[in-house]
Amino acid sequence: MNRVEQLRKKLAKGQGVYISSYANIFYYSGFTSEDAVLIITPQRQLLVTDSRYLVQAKEQAPEFEIRDIAKGLSAILSDIEGLQELYFEEDYLTVSREKRLQDAGKNLQLTQGQKLISALREKKDEKEIEKIRAAEALGDAAFSHILNFIRVGQTEREVALELEFFMRKQGAQALSFETIVASGVRSCMPHGVATNKVIEAGDFVTLDFGCILDGYCSDMTRTFVMGHASEKQRQIYDVVLAAQKAALDKIAIGVACRDIDRAARDVIASAGFGKNFGHGLGHSVGIEIHESPSFSPKSDAIVEEGHVITVEPGIYLEGFGGVRIEDVVAISAKNVANLTKSQKDFIIL
Ligand code: ZN
Ligand code: ZN
Repeated sequence: MNRVEQLRKKLAKGQGVYISSYANIFYYSGFTSEDAVLIITPQRQLLVTDSRYLVQAKEQAPEFEIRDIAKGLSAILSDIEGLQELYFEEDYLTVSREKRLQDAGKNLQLTQGQKLISALREKKDEKEIEKIRAAEALGDAAFSHILNFIRVGQTEREVALELEFFMRKQGAQALSFETIVASGVRSCMPHGVATNKVIEAGDFVTLDFGCILDGYCSDMTRTFVMGHASEKQRQIYDVVLAAQKAALDKIAIGVACRDIDRAARDVIASAGFGKNFGHGLGHSVGIEIHESPSFSPKSDAIVEEGHVITVEPGIYLEGFGGVRIEDVVAISAKNVANLTKSQKDFIIL
């Protein structure tokens, strides 16, 4: 059953969905612009866009009735017989756009439907997993390229730029998020985007990066040391690696996501660094870089077939530096596949 049909199963007579986020527009229709909305009801499926995109919409979303917004949203909505209630994505629709929608569909009831609309994306099908695998492989290639490229004396920005250049040259459409290159004491910041800081001997360097290939995101993190390493650097690295291994070993269909998080957190806490691991263990990856469910102490989710989730424990010591190691795993009926192949031995460059 295709995605639109699966979504329809959740709709009663008179109900429809109004989809305005890029990720869900792309997921349900294949259309690759956010200057559009989808309206899906039990009988109809419309893609509304403006004149710039009408040809593209016909090509990319042949199953949809294409409508030009120039006709007016009000006229388009009143043309859908029997429509009484519209679910919308409350995380995306601004207050002003919601008001415009309410004005256009005077007697329509608008209902928050973020979860109803996005839930199907939690479980990836085989084609989606193959796309994420390919994106992740490009990340791996970029990492081995950067190990040969990086030198003491370069700035973090030069390294970030080289990573981006490499991935885009190999076909990436974009980065999945702004590249993190955090060196020396800056590596204690879990999200330290690249600056003009010069990389020095003895620095920890954390690279956290990803690309979008064929519509799907990759995400990986590796930390290594430049020149020479201290005992403490080696110790912290070993704890993070052991924490990641404990979590990876625990992942199986039916296990609570919060127990996967705990497996890593326990290893870090028993080494005395419990307070230095402040974020959740991982998030799902797909069309967007941060999707549900996640591995976190608060998660109520259970690991299911089709989940594609990161495993990224870290230890961050203010004034000293930090380590994070991140892989992406894909859960299928037959196995838990680690899609990130880059080595995790302690590297001194
Ligand atoms: Zn990451
Ligand atoms: Zn991540």
